[in-house]
Order: sequence, then C-alpha cells, then structure tokens
Amino acid sequence: QQQTPTKITNKLLSEEFLNKFDTFLFDCDGVLWLGTILLPSIRETLDMLTSLGKQLIFVTNNSTKSRKAYTKKFESFGIKVTEDQIFTSGYASAVYVRDFLKLQPGKDKIWGFGEAGVREELTLMGFETLGCDDPGLNQPFDASTSPFLVNGLDKDVKCVVAGLDHNVNYHRLAITLQYLQQPDVEFVGTNVDSTFPQKGYTFPGAGSMVESVAFSSGRRPAYCGKPNKNMLNTIVSAFNLDRSKCCMVGDRLNTDIRFGHEGELGGTLLVLTGIETEERALEVTSEHPRPAYYVEKLGDLYEYTH
Ligand code: PLP
Ligand code: CA
Repeated sequence: QQQTPTKITNKLLSEEFLNKFDTFLFDCDGVLWLGTILLPSIRETLDMLTSLGKQLIFVTNNSTKSRKAYTKKFESFGIKVTEDQIFTSGYASAVYVRDFLKLQPGKDKIWGFGEAGVREELTLMGFETLGCDDPGLNQPFDASTSPFLVNGLDKDVKCVVAGLDHNVNYHRLAITLQYLQQPDVEFVGTNVDSTFPQKGYTFPGAGSMVESVAFSSGRRPAYCGKPNKNMLNTIVSAFNLDRSKCCMVGDRLNTDIRFGHEGELGGTLLVLTGIETEERALEVTSEHPRPAYYVEKLGDLYEYTH
C-alpha cells in the first residue's frame, strides 16, 4: 500500500523535494555526522535550508548527552543551533514524566539508570534524581553495605528512568530492580535501540540495558524516544507544526522512518550514510515502513542544487 520510495539523484528531484516541506526534523548520528566526523556538505545543506526559510529541528535517540551538551557538539562542527531546536530521548523522557505521568517536580523523586543526559534534563525540570552517576554505585554490589539499601529505599521515588549507561554494573541493575519491584513506581525507558554503530563496530544500545531490568522485574517500560509518538507530539506542539509540511530525515527505518510515518508527517527521507542500505530502503516488509524518499547522503541536496 506504500508507494515505491523515490531516489533523489539530481537537481530537479532535489528542488521538488525541498519545495514540499517547511520543516525538517533531522536524526543526528548517521545523518549529519558519524560519531565525531561531520559528513560531506552538511554545513552547506543546513545553511541552504535556513536561507530557504526552512525550520530545522534535531531529534536524537542518544540519551547520554543533554540538549545543552548537544549544542556544544553542533558548535564543534561549526553549526549554530539553539537548545530549543534539539530533542533528545533523555529530554523526551523528562517531558513524559512531568506532562504525561504528572509527577511533581520538587516532590516526587526519580531513580535514574543512565548518564548525564538523563540526570541533567530531569534536574532542569526540578526533579530530584537518585542513581545515575552517583559514585556509590561504582562500589562492587553488597546487599548489606550498599548505601542505597542500608537506610531502605527512598519512598519519594515515584519513577525509574532507564537508558544507556556506559558504566552499567550489577550494583546499578540491582538497585534499579528494587525500585521497579515497588508497584507505585513508574517505569520509563529513554529509547529502544538495541545497538548503535561507532567506529565501524556495533555496540549495545539503550534498549539492551532497559530490557535487562524489564526482564528481571517482569515489567514493560514506556519508551520515549523515536519512534514513540509522545516525542513527536511534544515537538509538534512546541513549534505548532503543520505535520503535512514536515519531513523526517533519518538513517534507520525502524526508528526514524517509522517515527515520521506513524506520526503522519508529510514525508520521510532515508539517507544511506548510516545503518541502512538501498536494498533495505526498497524492501517491502511488515517490519518497518518504507521511506517516501531516499538519497545517498544528505549533502547531495546541496551538491545537486549548486
Ligand atoms: N544512543 C547512543 C548512545 C549513541 O551514541 C547514538 C549515536 O551516537 C544513538 C543512540 C543514536 O543517535 P541518533 O538518534 O542521533 O542516531
Ligand atoms: Ca541515526
């Protein structure tokens, strides 16, 4: 029932594509850059879109960095963005905790299993957080001496927010499970990505850690990153967007393209600089939607038109 994806291969197709949309939502890693390497003609493409009057929004599933840290990353590539143009899965989780779960900043506390990107966004909203990078969690786990057990669990903790933690250890898993065993404690996952690519390797993603505590607790998390609709709803209402004039640009079919497709955006563009191949882009399967458009690299939109 879906149309065959259009491959953008020349100036005419690029211009037709660009004319259709007012707003572009960009996935970051695999689209703009690969880790610390900026992809070709990205600055030029983003500048071109801005000078055409397009609105640019950046949407990443990386929960380890805050929005503020992301603006620094953009700056390091010579790209000027403001914090309100950036949405991370850590921020999406914090919005979900406040606006959907209606937990109260200043009163309800959050147990974090994750990094600075989770802790900082919750703290900025006024939530007191426990866990995350607390040095006590780096001690080898011992139930009789863990500083998180000796005085009992904190009764004000009303939610667990779990994401990727490069310092994952048994202590973190063990205390996170204690909170998940409390029936009045909510369970939020930043993003479901099973893996992410880095330096030519594939490493365990946030989903592999969230699912670990989901398995031991027998509970299901509410995931907040792409492709979750709550994240898109937050973005659409923050900018009062007309969905039909928005295009989601990404390198992953089951997160980015699904995000745009299920969110009923006007279009989706898959780039082949990240996870997916041309064969996958054209594949008809119930596993993931097909993109409306695809292009070898995002910078082609600039290169074809200049
Ligand atoms: N999670 C982590 C920890 C990452 O490092 C990355 C990529 O850098 C991602 C998720 C995926 O990010 P994006 O949604 O920008 O592709
Ligand atoms: Ca990506």
